Amino acid sequence: MAKLAIAGGTPLRTAEFKMRRTMGEEERRAVLDVMASDNLSAFFGSPGDQWLGGEKVKEFEHKWARKYGFKHAISVNSATTALTTAIGAVGVEPGDEVIVSPYTMSASATSALFYGGIPVFADIDPETFNITAETIERCITSRTKAIMVVHIFGQAADMDPIMALARKHGLKVIEDAAQAPGVYYKGRPVGTLGDIGSFSLNYHKHIHTGEGGMLVTNDGQLALRCQMIRNHAENLVEAYQPESLSNMVGSNYRLTELQAAIGCVQLDRLDAYLAHRQRLADHLSRRLSGLDGVSPPKLAEGAGHAYYVYPILYHPEAVGVPRERFVRAVNAELPPAGHAEQKGLIEAYVRPLYLAQVYQKKIAIGSKGFPWTMNPDVDYRYEKGTCPVVERMHERQMMLTPLVREPLHERDMDDLADAIAKVLDNRDELRELR
Ligand SMILES: *Cc1c(COP(=O)(O)O)cnc(C)c1O
Repeated sequence: MAKLAIAGGTPLRTAEFKMRRTMGEEERRAVLDVMASDNLSAFFGSPGDQWLGGEKVKEFEHKWARKYGFKHAISVNSATTALTTAIGAVGVEPGDEVIVSPYTMSASATSALFYGGIPVFADIDPETFNITAETIERCITSRTKAIMVVHIFGQAADMDPIMALARKHGLKVIEDAAQAPGVYYKGRPVGTLGDIGSFSLNYHKHIHTGEGGMLVTNDGQLALRCQMIRNHAENLVEAYQPESLSNMVGSNYRLTELQAAIGCVQLDRLDAYLAHRQRLADHLSRRLSGLDGVSPPKLAEGAGHAYYVYPILYHPEAVGVPRERFVRAVNAELPPAGHAEQKGLIEAYVRPLYLAQVYQKKIAIGSKGFPWTMNPDVDYRYEKGTCPVVERMHERQMMLTPLVREPLHERDMDDLADAIAKVLDNRDELRELR
């Protein structure tokens, strides 16, 4: 058997994995056109023609909405501000609880805090890594106002049972679809399966505008409230009269014309990217499904996947070495990664969010414990053990590869699968290593 590279053997591959190239000639031309117009943002934060932004911002929003049949699309300057806007729009108030996964980017949960909402963390399904109607139901109380569903890694959460549960309890549902643009669930696009949805346009996402975000909804009142929060709502309420004045203190979350012009071009590229990733993922899954010690991701029925990253489950008992050593051994078979995007395997995703200081010490807004002080009789315990599946994934089982993406090829997936297979074949040698 070939000696492992980590033990001084020859690595399987030395040629670098190619990086993505995200900006092309079309984006360059789109930016130059905006430059020529000399109008880099046409927003005014007061009533009149321009409170909804300029030509490119409107074009980008219409284009996104039309592509998926959403009634409204509202661009903002990040998905983080999109989530905060959505929390404000659905009317979260101080002391209201928002149920969310702890296995996501921190903003999925902190968005609630900005309006005095209290994140309550639901555990995930061990096969799809999404929260489910069952795990959500266990967290519902008389104080629950909303559910923040994250389509993690790009796989659509099982929304039908979640929506049935939400409607039964009168809860609002926000979809954090930052990792799942263009994904369908039972034939319907994510984003408007709940009340309001959000996409990210930061550099690391499938398509991007440097920084940026997009909110989508089929509810006209929610759309109006989002548009107002994005752009100094307090100056607009008399003119545009939202149904409720709560949370109508706005900010400046506006996208520039330059970003919107880039976004229009990027949106045209999305379908090809998704198809490419699907093809690579199918190939890698076929290769990994024959191996003992790792499992490819499972797809829930009716759920599409965008493969923002490709999750691989590690089975430490079967292999007999801790995940850290396994990942190190696989990566040693592959070229050194100059950039995170070029790594073969990444160990774990984020730490369960509730273990962060903001929840451990319950210090979020100011220093006196707000918003938890709103419910002095409730013992919010963000302790270890809150979500056992998330903790198991984080500590022992989750591995991710960022290689399932354009412009890589099936050959590259074979190299990754070969490296994993080689390490598994030599697990005895690996057990003896330190
Ligand atoms: C990237 C991401 C965000 C935040 O996106 P930004 O545009 O960087 O603010 C939120 N939620 C999830 C799940 C993400 O992956």
